[in-house]
Parts: sequence; C-alpha cells; structure tokens
Amino acid sequence: MQRRNLLSKVGAAGLGSFALSAQNSYATNSVKTPFEVPSTYIPIKGSAEFFPVRRIYCIGRNYSAHAIEMGSDPTREPPFFFQKPTDSVQYVAEGQTGNHPYPSLTKNYHHEIELVAALHKGGKNIPVELALNNVYGYAIGLDMTRRDLQRGMGDQKKPWEIGKSFDHSAPIGSIHRVEDYGHFTKGAIWLKINGATKQESNLSSMIWSVAEQISQLSAAFELMPGDLIYSGTPENVGPVVVGDLMEGHIDGLPSIRLKVV
Ligand code: MN
Repeated sequence: MQRRNLLSKVGAAGLGSFALSAQNSYATNSVKTPFEVPSTYIPIKGSAEFFPVRRIYCIGRNYSAHAIEMGSDPTREPPFFFQKPTDSVQYVAEGQTGNHPYPSLTKNYHHEIELVAALHKGGKNIPVELALNNVYGYAIGLDMTRRDLQRGMGDQKKPWEIGKSFDHSAPIGSIHRVEDYGHFTKGAIWLKINGATKQESNLSSMIWSVAEQISQLSAAFELMPGDLIYSGTPENVGPVVVGDLMEGHIDGLPSIRLKVV
C-alpha cells in the first residue's frame, strides 16, 4: 500500500516541496504530509493482493431497452461516459450484506446493476481487437443514482455530477481475475429487491461491448492500471427506499447484497 495519490497531498503540502512527474501528479515515493488521506482498494478473489483503484468510469445507456426508458434513441449512437470519485466505492464481501446509506437530497434513489471491468493496463486509442488485453478482472457493481437530481440537472443542461458522483454511489464486489474466470461477455444479469426481480437481462445485450467501451474511452482519456469501468445497466431501473434489500447477480460472479439504511 505504498502508492499514494499525490493529487490529494498537493494542496496541503504545497507545490515545490516534492517533484511531480512531468506527465501527471502521481509518484510512488513517500512524502511527508500533515494528515493521511485513504486510498481505495478492492479485494481480489483468491488472492492476498488488493486491486488499487485509480479512476471510475461509467457508460450511460448501454442496453437498448434502458436507453428507451431513459428517453434516448437505442441505436448505436456514440457511447457517453461519466466518472464517479474513486472513494465512492463501497466494497461488499461475498456472502455478506452491506449497509448502504440512503443519500441526502434525493426522493427518487435508483438501483442500476452493472458489470464492472477492472484494468491492469491502459493506453490511448486502444484498438477494439486488443482492448480486452487491458482487463485484469471483473466484478459486480451498482451505479447508484439520485435520479431526481440527475434528471433535474439534465433538464437544466447542467452537469450530472450531483446525481451520479456522490459518496457510496459505487457498491462493488471482489475483483475476479480474467486468468481465473475468463471474460464476461454473456450471461444473466439481474437485480432483485426484497426477493422480487426488478432488472433482468443478459450481458450480451450491451449496445457497446466492454472491448468497444475501452477502445472508445481511450480515445477521450489515457486509460491507466487501476481504472474501473461500470459497463451500463439493463432496463427497469427503479427506486429503493430505506429498509429495502438489494441483491444483484451476474452469472459466474457471487451475488452482491446491500440493505438500504
Ligand atoms: Mn449506470
């Protein structure tokens, strides 16, 4: 756990007190800081190592029936992406039920069950046919959404940030390595609330595959090891309230369970 995100330390320590790389603000050497800032790590299934999270990218409207319910054209428009903060990750261990705090400000809090790809390599302008080489593993995740705030901001042509990028908005299970579990390109994906199925589809129904997402994302951002990609949710997103038990499933991965508190 030596790697530190120096972006968080620049403001406190002051630029000039240590050398930053010419290309970015990361370094792996230790620096003195006046306080500690936690980093984000996710357990890796079958390993004593942890996956270090750099950035969280999410793709919007990536299953056609969900695109329709969100009011957009389900044809292959270019995919669009947004980010969540790294520390919005809420890890939930296999077989456990995480307590998920109902967030502030919203009266319409939605579940979005998603496959998450975890990268161990990156680059710019990655060709689709090479893109899956960058995937270290996969996890089950939820892109929790303050839908009323997302829609309200969208209606005003303002950024979605407050609807998507809040504390605890990215629940996730452990990372399952490609070398052990392969790539997840098809298989059931569903979400139940209090035992009743709400979302149900198949990974093969994605409009843009994980490989295509990586390729397109890498045209806009240089992807790096540690990046997560939430690959979009199927149709029938809907609200949860305090007391609800969410159970998410993707074939080949352990279920994720969260109680809204
Ligand atoms: Mn989503």
